Amino acid sequence: MATRIKLFLFCNLFCFLTVISAQQSNIDQALIRAEMEFLASDAMQGRASGSHDELLAATYLASQLREIGVEPAGDEGAYIQNVSGEFNFYREGKKQWTTRNVIGRITGRDEKLKDQVILLTAHMDHLGVREPVNGDNIYNGADDDASGCVAVLQLARALAHKKPPKRTVFFVFFGSEETGGQGNRYFLEHPPVPLKNIIANLEFEMIGRPDSAVKPDELWLTGFDRSNLGPELAKHGARLVADPHPKQNFFQRSDNYALAKQGVVAHTVSSFGLHSDYHRPGDDIAHIDFAHMEEAIHSMLGPVEWLANSEFKPEWVEGKKP
Ligand SMILES: [Zn+2]
Repeated sequence: MATRIKLFLFCNLFCFLTVISAQQSNIDQALIRAEMEFLASDAMQGRASGSHDELLAATYLASQLREIGVEPAGDEGAYIQNVSGEFNFYREGKKQWTTRNVIGRITGRDEKLKDQVILLTAHMDHLGVREPVNGDNIYNGADDDASGCVAVLQLARALAHKKPPKRTVFFVFFGSEETGGQGNRYFLEHPPVPLKNIIANLEFEMIGRPDSAVKPDELWLTGFDRSNLGPELAKHGARLVADPHPKQNFFQRSDNYALAKQGVVAHTVSSFGLHSDYHRPGDDIAHIDFAHMEEAIHSMLGPVEWLANSEFKPEWVEGKKP
């Protein structure tokens, strides 16, 4: 009898936990979709770099960080870091530019490890309104890079709902990546912590669709063989493989690169399969594979949590430091 009751209780508990975790997953799914539907909506007009629409995205991301319970680490006790000054542009040369970054922080709980920072980043801007393609002139940037912003938000959410990790984690959304990384450059000149304290940066770029060049549940890491970070994350459950498009030089093409040049072990996580909607109005919500995106984000939660609690310090492979 006793065994039967125990078995009965165990089954009930098991069913209860299964329901809870299914509900949790439904909530995550709904959150991911909700955040994407706002950031990549036509109402945001493509979040053009340095524009009012980019500021709307920044304000939204800041309010999400507040709701999640991440501490503000921008200007004057707020999340937004205002960026203003003269920047060198690729084609036009020197120009006055205004943009912003959004910066949140979870302070590490370990006296010894809390000065070591894990930096999780994405860029919030896209191309705005431009010449129409098939009658659509809003370049929504759902994959590029609303998907990365939502990944960083979800990682913040997951980490904030547990006891603080041993290391400090920063969540940063850069402005004006598409115009040459002005937000990122300003961040490097006005970092919220000394750059030498940042032991790893993972930039999330274009994870909204699977890449047929790798397995369906895999993500790739730019510059995978340049440091031991990717292999070590993979050992801890990340389904991360080497970038299958080396000719595209993706390691150099996102905000991670400026950090890498400063010595920070910095890579980009992506599953961009060179789709034809890249930098076109077709990069919209209708083309997001939400099952893939949710799975991609989930697959990184455990490994990022491990990194934030470990004493492992990633290093460049000899001769591969940019
Ligand atoms: Zn991008």
